[in-house]
Amino acid sequence: MPFVLSLDEGTTSARAALYDEQGRNVAMESAPVHCRYPQAGWVEQDADEIWNAQLYAARLLLDHAGVQAPEIVAVGITNQRETAVVWERATGRPVAPAIVWQCRRTAPYCAELAQSFAAADITRRTGLVIDAYFSGSKIRWILENVPEARQKARDGELLFGNVDTWLIWKLTNGAVHVTDPTNASRTMLMNLETGDWDEDLLRILDVPRAMLPRIAPSSAVVGAVHAEHFGAEIPIAGIAGDQQAALAGQACFRAGLSKNTYGTGCFALMHTGGHLPVSRNRLLGTRAASTDGLPQFAIEGSVFVAGAAVQWLRDKLGLIQTAAESEPLAASVPDTGGVYLVPAFVGLGAPYWDAGARGILCGLTRSSDRAHIVRATLESIAYQTRELIDAMQADAGERILELRVDGGAAANNFLMQFQADILGCPIVRPADIETTALGAAYLAGLATGFWKSVAEVENFWRAERRFEPAMDEATRERLFSGWKDAVARCITAP
Ligand code: ADP
Repeated sequence: MPFVLSLDEGTTSARAALYDEQGRNVAMESAPVHCRYPQAGWVEQDADEIWNAQLYAARLLLDHAGVQAPEIVAVGITNQRETAVVWERATGRPVAPAIVWQCRRTAPYCAELAQSFAAADITRRTGLVIDAYFSGSKIRWILENVPEARQKARDGELLFGNVDTWLIWKLTNGAVHVTDPTNASRTMLMNLETGDWDEDLLRILDVPRAMLPRIAPSSAVVGAVHAEHFGAEIPIAGIAGDQQAALAGQACFRAGLSKNTYGTGCFALMHTGGHLPVSRNRLLGTRAASTDGLPQFAIEGSVFVAGAAVQWLRDKLGLIQTAAESEPLAASVPDTGGVYLVPAFVGLGAPYWDAGARGILCGLTRSSDRAHIVRATLESIAYQTRELIDAMQADAGERILELRVDGGAAANNFLMQFQADILGCPIVRPADIETTALGAAYLAGLATGFWKSVAEVENFWRAERRFEPAMDEATRERLFSGWKDAVARCITAP
């Protein structure tokens, strides 16, 4: 039986999954990856640990599934985006810890850059709001803080990569230094329209071009896994950042199709086809994974704390024992009794981009109890998503017809129904919610002829459950305006 192997390297774990010709996930394994927090706001990982965890998960998978390398037609890679790795070309040794996407160490530099005369131009060229989130300022930090790093980078002795690039370089034993447009569009160094590194941006951030990978299509053979790793060479044929891979895994290959992932944070993406998106509502313009080499785009909005607020209820407040318990508890009361939680624990993401905002719990009365607070927490995830979707619809000038959902918290039926109610739009949950790994598999399988066309993989997508809006308009808008009032109390940057 032939299979496609998908490697899905996330922030907390590296996963490996096998897909058959019907696009079915037949086996999956994972290995944990650890974060270090050396200072307030700093988040690091060990790049060698990332690689070892990914290799371990893949070998375990093949071993448990009893599959040999010659049965695998292609490998697809998807990854936590923006995380920056810099290593020595000659030895493969990382010169610094991987600086993780969540890391805020370059926030002061980004705040300065955002005030500079170049700011509007940077946003126009990259589609991004200037923020420490993206890789560019992280690379710059490494070049400034590791002795001799900038000179070595200019001399071509150091290489940069996001996690996709790092894994492919390791898988090919240093033969291939490559990325794809979905990842490159998150560096703040790529021109979103042309899909190439932008000389002016490289100059502003002082990043030598010699250290940057080639940008190859998301769905194309870029090299082969060295036989040493799995016992035979396997073509590497798909690359996409996790959110764009999820968009593909949700079979959102056309303009107007949208998905929202409910994990630690929320990431909503709307495909805009070949149309370069320019957000007027502080969302991001980004590359979507293209299957024919022609540029494809998406509008993206991210919420920093979504499922993480449920973890906070469990671990910090002790109001619940498990995340799943939040569902019956929230449903046990008819409403929150006017209680709102704004989980701005690390500031607010799109559309506010307010790093100084902090969380707030308001509207409490003597009758507020545990269930009201738990319900307010789940509702906060839906309200934050509504803000993203409102901004997206305003940018696109049209309403979305349905929202496809995935991620751990999408399992919560109360949350999904409330989301449909508060958006006034149907929510559709697919049968396979491991959409990230699936999307990378699609890209690799399409590049190698394992699947013949986008239409073929679109057909694999199956809804498991559809949630129709059932709330009247007046209630919806009254609840949402209460949320807006709560947000207004915690923002610092109007
Ligand atoms: P990530 O990929 O960001 O690590 P996952 O997609 O694995 O996240 O989802 C995990 C998140 O979803 C956690 O923050 C957890 O609190 C939340 N979560 C998981 N199950 C539920 C549930 N039934 N109800 C609400 N939240 C949940």
